[in-house]
Amino acid sequence: MSIRKQTLYNGEWVDELTCKEFVEWVTDYLEDKLPAEDGRRFDAHLAQCSGCPHYLEQIRQTIRIAGKLSEASIEPQARRELLRVFASWKAEHQRGDDPQ
Ligand SMILES: [Zn+2]
Repeated sequence: MSIRKQTLYNGEWVDELTCKEFVEWVTDYLEDKLPAEDGRRFDAHLAQCSGCPHYLEQIRQTIRIAGKLSEASIEPQARRELLRVFASWKAEHQRGDDPQ
């Protein structure tokens, strides 16, 4: 499927971001490298996803501790962490309907 869903965010329709894309973009987001439109998509996902805001906060804490953002050191850990967060989130919110 190449057709993206759209979501309304701050009065504008933006292409929905997947959690996987959120993880891939998080370093650019924190370094202010995302183009404005992609930044809106990122923010829209952040507003609607139950797992990613928690994940983003953990990344921010990691950066505070590490002192700087290093994509090379964050990526593998971040992906594992995200999967862990979603696994526990799914277990808590099992309602029989698949998340989008
Ligand atoms: Zn998400």
